[in-house]
Amino acid sequence: MALEPETATLRSYHVGFGDCFLLTFGYGGGEKKHVLIDFGTTQNPENKPDILQEAAANILEVTDRKLTAVVATHRHKDHIEGFRTSNAGDGPGDLIRQCEPDLVIQPWTEDPDLETDATAPPDHKQFRLAMRDLEDVSRAIYRDAKHFAEPGFADQLSFLGENNLPNVKAVRNLQTMGKKAEYVYANYPTALSGLLPGVQVSVLGPPTLEQSKAIRKQRAHDEEQFWHLWQTRAFVARLGFSTGGAQPTVPDQGMQPVFPYASRYLPNENPPEARWFRRKAQEMYGGELLELVRTLDKVLNNTSVILLFEFAGKRLLFPGDAQIENWSYALDQEDVCAKLKDTDLYKVGHHGSLNATPKDLWELFAHKRHDGQDSGGVLKTVVSTLAGKHGHPEDGTEVPRTKLVADLTKFSDYYTTQAMESSEDIFHDIQIL
Ligand SMILES: [Zn+2]
Repeated sequence: MALEPETATLRSYHVGFGDCFLLTFGYGGGEKKHVLIDFGTTQNPENKPDILQEAAANILEVTDRKLTAVVATHRHKDHIEGFRTSNAGDGPGDLIRQCEPDLVIQPWTEDPDLETDATAPPDHKQFRLAMRDLEDVSRAIYRDAKHFAEPGFADQLSFLGENNLPNVKAVRNLQTMGKKAEYVYANYPTALSGLLPGVQVSVLGPPTLEQSKAIRKQRAHDEEQFWHLWQTRAFVARLGFSTGGAQPTVPDQGMQPVFPYASRYLPNENPPEARWFRRKAQEMYGGELLELVRTLDKVLNNTSVILLFEFAGKRLLFPGDAQIENWSYALDQEDVCAKLKDTDLYKVGHHGSLNATPKDLWELFAHKRHDGQDSGGVLKTVVSTLAGKHGHPEDGTEVPRTKLVADLTKFSDYYTTQAMESSEDIFHDIQIL
């Protein structure tokens, strides 16, 4: 077998709002090695209701039931739903399991031993526990979302709540499907390099808490958010009104009603004079729920594994949905920046949202198209996305972000799964080598 890949292809599946990429290296003598990077969706494409099942079947076939590695960049539904197993044993995750990956790579925050391992740093344990608290909040939000009358608002709450729900079957499958599991952080010496001859794989993120103070700062912010939620819930409960959602799951800290002798009403029996107040209280509560679930969304995005593949003079960058707090650790290092400069293929972070392609990173890329240059050697950018699912154009939060897409189209060879919207194709292939 040759020591270096002779071909390299990236297969991008049309999973809707989610990611699913199969990276295939071809060696001499027809041997192939496959790495699956993420497999999930929160909304299927309209014309492909069974896309996860179809994609899994395709992966099984094209890999001839053998994956060298599976990478689950972070635990969001739109990145791991496809790893879900079914009771009948024929779910998409069961098919991927049949490909017996030698290695499964996840971020350090997913390490199931983190809470029990006596040698784990105490702040890592705390971080993990805080994530679990946020998951509980997420579950409550998903359940409550339907109580909010404004449709756009309820949709956002429901989408973010659902995306952040812990997906037990997928998580368990990921923990156990590989011969070896790695829970990685920046500079972790992954075994993937040794499994792919001639390919050097570097882990650029997520940083550990020691490596980056940014995540810690964000944690402090979460606590603040929690505090606001407690305040609102306690305040509303204290006045004797129902907010129409679930009862507070936090202890009421023994607070007594402010007006103990006032008349009491059952939920939905609020007197007419209180309707205005009830509506206001509900709006306030809803606004804070949205803030909270956005915080959790960001925390989880920032646990994304960032991988750089180098082989035969090519560099491919897969950052999951990493946002600036995760990126800042890598971007602070000169030697990492020097490598990133020569990126040949960039998997666009977070489905093309405004917060996942830091300007500093985009400015680093030296192979962007310039005037009069033909396509050879131009940076390739690859996005998996579905418009109209996330954010709003009015406040510049729509995904994919129009401005970013304009730049990607102008300065790179841009590949988007949206190009498959009206076709039967379930994937497109991007030739790298
Ligand atoms: Zn995502």
